[in-house]
Amino acid sequence: MFQKILIANRGEIACRVMRTARRMGIKTVAVYSEADALALHVREADEAVAIGPSAAAESYLKIDRIIEACRATGAEAVHPGYGFLSENQAFAKALDAAGIVFIGPNTHAIAAMGDKIESKKLAAAAGVSTVPGYLGVIPDAEAAVKIAAEVGYPVMIKASAGGGGKGMRLAHNDAEVLEGFRSATNEARSSFGDDRVFIEKYIVEPRHIEIQVLGDAHGHIVHLGERECSIQRRHQKVIEEAPSPFLDAETRAAMGAQAVALARAVDYRSAGTVEFIVDRDRNFYFLEMNTRLQVEHPVTELVTGLDLVELMIRVAAGEPLPFGQDDVTLTGSAIEARVYAEDPLRNFLPSIGRLTRYRPPTDEHVRVDTGVYEGAEISIHYDPMIAKLCTYGETRDLATRRMAAALDSFQIRGLNHNIGFLAALVTRPRFAEGRLSTDFIPTEFPDGFGGAVMSAEDLARVVAIAAVAHRRAVERDALIAARRHPPAIAAEWTVLVGRDAHPVNIVPEEPGYAVTLGGHTHLVQTDWQPGDALFEGKIDGHATTVQVDRVGTIWRLIRGGAAIELRVLTPRAAALAALMPVKTPPDLSRLLLSPMPGLLVSIAVAAGQDVKAGEELAVVEAMKMENVLRAVRDGRVAKIQANPGDSLAVDQVILEFEGAS
Ligand code: ADP
Repeated sequence: MFQKILIANRGEIACRVMRTARRMGIKTVAVYSEADALALHVREADEAVAIGPSAAAESYLKIDRIIEACRATGAEAVHPGYGFLSENQAFAKALDAAGIVFIGPNTHAIAAMGDKIESKKLAAAAGVSTVPGYLGVIPDAEAAVKIAAEVGYPVMIKASAGGGGKGMRLAHNDAEVLEGFRSATNEARSSFGDDRVFIEKYIVEPRHIEIQVLGDAHGHIVHLGERECSIQRRHQKVIEEAPSPFLDAETRAAMGAQAVALARAVDYRSAGTVEFIVDRDRNFYFLEMNTRLQVEHPVTELVTGLDLVELMIRVAAGEPLPFGQDDVTLTGSAIEARVYAEDPLRNFLPSIGRLTRYRPPTDEHVRVDTGVYEGAEISIHYDPMIAKLCTYGETRDLATRRMAAALDSFQIRGLNHNIGFLAALVTRPRFAEGRLSTDFIPTEFPDGFGGAVMSAEDLARVVAIAAVAHRRAVERDALIAARRHPPAIAAEWTVLVGRDAHPVNIVPEEPGYAVTLGGHTHLVQTDWQPGDALFEGKIDGHATTVQVDRVGTIWRLIRGGAAIELRVLTPRAAALAALMPVKTPPDLSRLLLSPMPGLLVSIAVAAGQDVKAGEELAVVEAMKMENVLRAVRDGRVAKIQANPGDSLAVDQVILEFEGAS
């Protein structure tokens, strides 16, 4: 076994690989860019080597620097994680030449699966069912239209070198093929330096279900069942789970057998994933094979009890797989939610900044893979993922409920995040029913995600909790003042939610408080003390978690991803407050503001131009992503206030519209 390995990655995956290495008694070496000097993966490694400036192209993607770091530290093997160099055959070859072991598959497998056209051909030859389509390179838009008509609409135009959802276009007719061919080709050229595209049938309402495979250098290949990753936003996975609520044992076995056949065809010896799309009738079609550890691998680990990183390291060191196909069993259900620094209310634009508070949930059924800590900064340079939150349950229902509870207690402050969006997803009835498909998000949120909404039931609970929290704070004050003034704590309070007044009566009643509002009395039990950020307790016997922030006289409570601000006042103060004028916030609706610090790439409109809602206004680049800013309503552009190439601050004015809204 290796004595020391280097992890050629950053963030949560670097930390996750190190955790296993440490358990196996293997020393770890981190590499880091300038921006990551204080990153968690650097802190957790036994040694760390600086490899260059913040831009990934200057550091994490520099093959020679990583090989130098191996030499300098004596690392015998490299785990590439996912992304960066994980599927780069030049990297695997360079390590080989330097006598360093690549903890991954052979270079031939990487090369064969790195290209969608080639891998589909190979899959078809190995007896794997592929999406019907045309497997040649399409020379021009006219040929594309002809081929699309032959394949039959709707079709998907795809970049052969594609990945990360880039270079993919759906087309329903000739006009869309013309446009889609052009834009997919352009995107493929600029993203991958390779503009070959092909066309395949678009599978309607598909599910994304993938098979985890594992091979060793002795010709053994097994599969570890599937993961369903149908909940996607723009072809990117948001929530994944194992097993799929859709597969029966027979389909699972058939998909597993095909995945193993494909892995065998390329002499696969590491962990890899064969992705399929599955239609309503459980027909399944090969999409692509990822020759690396997948982001969502933890759900497979939770239901199989295996450690995929350990197995990757062992097979890379030449050990045979310690079990066969019949030994693999799937127990229970696991769900993963990807927690991102992004703003779901502003079209999921990445959000950067410092994590002023970062407290992931801790519970025996919760697994959090994270690469950050409280006080750390999420920078513009890399993927804005904060953590992967996984829950396990004996049943899918239990895993789902644990996920909702875990999201309730996940505390993140200092930047925008998608916890509310994730909570909204996993609490949808359709999620509970397991009726998933890749259009889950657009069909469940046809007008976009407008923020988690609190149910009337939850609102009553939150009002009761605010009353209890306030009462506890008053009790504490009374205790401090007790020597001079005997405490007399009123029972009648008014909770103000905006302009809505909720009269509340609250009295101690063992073992908690009886809170009466809206004609109902709730029994609230809790150990919560003023200053605690998490209110954990029972309401009428049901475990309830609510996040509690207090800013001056305002209580800010978060539950189910929905935040609500309340004030708890004496009835007299509430009556007076009702007479106060409502402050109107400044009207910013006439301005297009930069939603984040970034580079203004382009402006699509000019002064005097009429724009329609949804039309592109400008493109801002941040975190390696181009973010298209669109008009939220119809209007006329009055003035352009920034120029392409400008470095924008958050909320900097890019352009102004005419007239007030
Ligand atoms: P990438 O490598 O860019 O991630 P994939 O080929 O893996 O691209 O596809 C990503 C997602 O796009 C799939 O999970 C699926 O949701 C959707 N998709 C891809 N091909 C098709 C198709 N032929 N029909 C329907 N959906 C598809």
